[in-house]
Amino acid sequence: MKTHYSLFISLSALLVACSPKPYQEAKKIQEEKVQQVAQKMDVNLAPVLVDSLGNTIPSSYIPTVNFGSRKPDFVIIHHTAQDSLALTIKTFTLERTQVSAHYVIGRDGQVVQMLNDELRAWHAGLSKWGNNVDMNSCSIGIELDNNGLEPFSDPQINSLMILLAKLKTTYNIPTANFIGHSDVAPKRKQDPSILFPWKKLADNGFGLWYKTPDMPPSADFDIENALRRIGYDTSDLPAAIIAFKRHFVQIDLNPTMGDWDKCVLYNLYKKY
Ligand SMILES: [Zn+2]
Repeated sequence: MKTHYSLFISLSALLVACSPKPYQEAKKIQEEKVQQVAQKMDVNLAPVLVDSLGNTIPSSYIPTVNFGSRKPDFVIIHHTAQDSLALTIKTFTLERTQVSAHYVIGRDGQVVQMLNDELRAWHAGLSKWGNNVDMNSCSIGIELDNNGLEPFSDPQINSLMILLAKLKTTYNIPTANFIGHSDVAPKRKQDPSILFPWKKLADNGFGLWYKTPDMPPSADFDIENALRRIGYDTSDLPAAIIAFKRHFVQIDLNPTMGDWDKCVLYNLYKKY
């Protein structure tokens, strides 16, 4: 009996050793990098501060005992523009790509978390929303497996909304702070596409939406100012208009504001 048991243990060990361990290398690298982040936080030196005359300002480091990790304040939604969940996961587990997200959601609704919410993923890139100029530092990134041309599947959107509800509660994320990649990087990004169901999300408390506009704005309504109030970077106004229309109008992507577009913008502007 004992021999059988030993044999079973040996065979099990052999099977484990031979079974494919996908992403084992990525797991090891992530663990090492988490250690590096923690070590960096552990090196506590007094700040070096010098005035305009070159005099050093007296400074020291005395540790406080009351702290926690920082919490995310925004959720940024993307589409992967790739053809499968596996391909996106592969992209995010290779160091040379230098891109990542906290979560990836498949067309079938499968949710894959790839990084702790309180660490900084590399999903937004050069980005701006309101006065926030580094969206990676304050947001959770969610990638939806979608090639950019197809509708988003019901299982995928259902899983997304369950995840968003969890994140909203856990981190107390304001309703207006569920936005898209193209909102925060209008000059560079087109995701999520015009097919993304922003209204459905807003109906469930994730992002703002307009009420049926009752009155058009006056002739002197300042479109640029209104877009800026919502959060858009208007340094390239046509790009900001397209991003706004991709999110809130979802009819066309012309860089011009028609009467309906202005009504929607005016309605939203009053909410912000
Ligand atoms: Zn994106």
